[in-house]
Amino acid sequence: SGRGHHIEYVSSAVRMEHAPPPALPEVCFIGRSNVGKSSLIRALFSLAPEVEVRVSKTPGHTKKMNFFKVGKYFTLVDMPGYGYRAPQDFVEMVEAYLQERHNLKRTFLLVDGVVGLQKTDHIAVEMLEEFGIPYVMVLTKIDRASRGLLLKNVLEIQEFVKENTQGCFPQLFLVSSVEFSGVHLLRCFVAHVTGNLPTVEAC
Ligand code: GDP
Repeated sequence: SGRGHHIEYVSSAVRMEHAPPPALPEVCFIGRSNVGKSSLIRALFSLAPEVEVRVSKTPGHTKKMNFFKVGKYFTLVDMPGYGYRAPQDFVEMVEAYLQERHNLKRTFLLVDGVVGLQKTDHIAVEMLEEFGIPYVMVLTKIDRASRGLLLKNVLEIQEFVKENTQGCFPQLFLVSSVEFSGVHLLRCFVAHVTGNLPTVEAC
């Protein structure tokens, strides 16, 4: 964030008709409730602490997609956390968004680094595979997992990705929003997939 490059909350939407015009390249973040999604988005936006990453965890509270604009470069969408008993309108909103959003460049599926892939994560993977859209897995809260547990979860997920997915990027991103590990590389990758950071050869 800086002068002429503001990171700002744009709007929330419960239906696709309420989404802002698809003017910029976009990325979205999805994951189970409590996976660490708002913490990660706050960490990605740490240079803009004034940006409020809203959390609506009250049961029964309407779940919304929150749109953030990153300068004139891209938009980031915080999708509502999903759970076992996701209401139908929520499922419809997320599915409609993923299928119809033409400026969506990449979906980031957050998985808890301590517990690894859960049943709901598998459902999300099936949905993304069915829609045939490119996505990336991000392992969260890695500071909370012992090295042995983290290694086990990483190897299991890599095996799963290799054997069962078509649209998943083979490289996992490991992050801790508390220790900020992996956050900068993830920022660079987001900049890259939105067309704002070309790779270069070392000189
Ligand atoms: P959300 O529901 O996916 O938005 O999850 P939150 O970001 O609210 O995080 C859920 C809980 O996990 C909170 O108590 C956070 O403080 C904690 N948490 C999130 N990210 C991390 C992390 O990287 N490390 C640790 N140790 N805790 C985290």
